[in-house]
Amino acid sequence: MAPLILRLDITGQPLRWIPWREAVLLDFKSMIAWNAGDHSFTFRGGHNRVSGKRSSITVSSIIAVKGRSRHGASGALVPPLSNRELFLRDGQLCLYCGKQLPEHMLTRDHIRPLSEGGKDSWRNVVTACKPCNHAKGARSPEQANMTLLAVPFEPNRAEYLFLSNRRILADQMQFLKKRFRNGSRLGI
Ligand SMILES: [Zn+2]
Repeated sequence: MAPLILRLDITGQPLRWIPWREAVLLDFKSMIAWNAGDHSFTFRGGHNRVSGKRSSITVSSIIAVKGRSRHGASGALVPPLSNRELFLRDGQLCLYCGKQLPEHMLTRDHIRPLSEGGKDSWRNVVTACKPCNHAKGARSPEQANMTLLAVPFEPNRAEYLFLSNRRILADQMQFLKKRFRNGSRLGI
């Protein structure tokens, strides 16, 4: 399977992962401003009817695209909350008992319960094992006399992109890591 290409805006802010076909199309439309990847991928097209030569196009693993981003200021976008990225954010650890568990044994715990007006947002959710989530119930950690092992955070764009791609390439990882928040525990 071809790896995903990291798309940046013209200023070098990471935007999103795109399939290589989209990168090829951007290149075809001369929309790629510059490349920042260590890897390049060559894709073969059809044969030219006149020359008989097969066309090919090479795209980098990281591309900066011309024009204004559809998302506006890329850093301002709140990344969507999903269990997969949440569990990865917390290193697949239950943030109450510290056990590291496979994804199917983990749950999303609302620190301030939804029934108490807590939000379903990055800063109000943590990874919890089923027994801890059950023990806590619809209570705050203080009420349940349970302590959080880490402070939940909302990933920035680079951190979210890092979390959401399991086939990330070394150069893409390097690029994103430079844009993590200070003291980020991700990818250690
Ligand atoms: Zn636990």
